[in-house]
Amino acid sequence: MKTPVLIVGAGPTGLSLACQLIRHRVDFLIIDKKEGTTPYSKAIGVHARTLEIYEQIGLAERAVAEGAIVGKTRLMEEGEIRAEIDLSRFGEGMSAYPFLLILEQGRHEKILHEYITDGGKDVMWQTELISFSQSADGVTAEIRKADGSSETVEAGFLVGCDGAKSLVRHSLGLEFTGGTFERIFYVADVQIDWEYSHDALHLNLSKDTLLGFFPMPGGENHYRIVGSLAEGSERNEAEILYEEIEDVIKNELKHPLDVHDVNWFSTYKVHTRHVNKFSVGRCFLAGDSAHIHSPAGAQGMNTGIQDGYNLAWKLAMVLNGRASVEILNTYNEERLPNAKRLLKTTDRMFELGAGEEWFTAWLRVRVFPYVANIMTRMEWVQRMVFPLVSQIGINYRRSSLSKDAAAVKVSAGDRMPYFLVDGQSIYDRLHEPQFHLIVFNDGSAVQAGMSEDLDGLADVQTIPLYPHIAEIFDTDATFCVLLRPDNYIGFIGKGYDIEGVREYLKKILS
Ligand SMILES: Cc1cc2nc3c(=O)[nH]c(=O)nc-3n(C[C@H](O)[C@H](O)[C@H](O)COP(=O)(O)OP(=O)(O)OC[C@H]3O[C@@H](n4cnc5c(N)ncnc54)[C@H](O)[C@@H]3O)c2cc1C
Repeated sequence: MKTPVLIVGAGPTGLSLACQLIRHRVDFLIIDKKEGTTPYSKAIGVHARTLEIYEQIGLAERAVAEGAIVGKTRLMEEGEIRAEIDLSRFGEGMSAYPFLLILEQGRHEKILHEYITDGGKDVMWQTELISFSQSADGVTAEIRKADGSSETVEAGFLVGCDGAKSLVRHSLGLEFTGGTFERIFYVADVQIDWEYSHDALHLNLSKDTLLGFFPMPGGENHYRIVGSLAEGSERNEAEILYEEIEDVIKNELKHPLDVHDVNWFSTYKVHTRHVNKFSVGRCFLAGDSAHIHSPAGAQGMNTGIQDGYNLAWKLAMVLNGRASVEILNTYNEERLPNAKRLLKTTDRMFELGAGEEWFTAWLRVRVFPYVANIMTRMEWVQRMVFPLVSQIGINYRRSSLSKDAAAVKVSAGDRMPYFLVDGQSIYDRLHEPQFHLIVFNDGSAVQAGMSEDLDGLADVQTIPLYPHIAEIFDTDATFCVLLRPDNYIGFIGKGYDIEGVREYLKKILS
């Protein structure tokens, strides 16, 4: 078998990478040793940036329709409601998806898988990567199929989306540095009868544990329970039975609840680790194979999806003969610092949510519930927290693909800010998988013939520099932005800087 790209692993990372390659019209082979998409709820939190990415391939609307937007959040102490906050529009004005969406991983993977089959491709299920080697020209992989037979795949590139225990990472000899949390975490997918209504996420705050009840779509009693035991438990997590955890939950909540129909239950220890490099030669890592961390903030799956999104357009450029292989080095350059930041952020989020240090615990239990309502309505809090948690704030300002040639408030390397143009999202104009040059015009004469100058690499749009856009970019003079196919700003220039744009493209693609 021959293929330009071999994707190993069809979890959310591999599946979403495959969707992006379809979008870029790049052929691929995707294999997974499992029988099909996961039947379990696993990762449930889907963030704004993921939905923006899905919007480009027409999947956001379906994801939102099949999921549930987190609206009310009740903060409780020993089951007593201390505050009720509304998070349904927390990121208002920052994204077309200003919320956290709850969508079970099983359903989520099905949506991605259907996009792949609609695109005329499919996952080779029950097919396992056994070994591989690479040369300057390609990768040779041995795979074992469902009937036990082996086959050799010749691939241009290999992407290991094969999860935390990644064979690809091990075979490439990459480090996976970090540590392991002392605590034991648990997760259960259940039906609950209790006094609280299903229209809210319930967080029971305590001085040393984490306990959250996420309302799940598909029934008034359907919840995901996520929690952690206090530090110092000597138990082996694999031996803990669900009944013991139910006792812990009842003891912490101190209010009657009847848990039944336990559909899925798991206990685990959390590792926080990242690779020292996202690629070696023609082989790349994405998702949990490259970074794992605490579930605080629901970041893991969303980050894997963004890894694939970053890599896909670069692979497409190379395979379509539009860029040289050097551009692939920027995958590690951009995603490794992000993985490092992610580990720090999730550690901090976990510390805030369940850390035992007395001051943090005091703030969490005694202060936060009483100020949460006011704080979450403050614009500066929203502007600080939403970009961080929803992943719209990730930037590649230090990347060699980012060039500022005009002093405006937004920098090259930032995600294109969200705003409306004539009542429609700016992102509605950015669906095509190519570069987009946008000139924000202050009323000066329009320069003709720009698109011909760009050799078909970018579409060119001119938009009046409306006051709200002038405010976001903090300038009232014409300027242009060149967006990469992942809608990050590559280049910002003064006026109609066609020369600057051409030079930029020549530099990054040649
Ligand atoms: C309880 C819990 C809750 C979570 N909640 C969230 C959340 O709300 N939001 C969020 O963003 N993240 C969440 N996460 C993290 C999230 O589940 C992971 O980050 C995500 O599943 C990683 O996806 P992946 O595709 O990279 O890896 P995986 O999902 O692990 O998929 C890897 C795939 O590779 C296949 N594979 C492995 N080796 C081979 C091989 N040799 N050959 C062929 N196939 C192979 C496996 O069968 C598997 O299907 C949560 C995690 C846990 C444990």
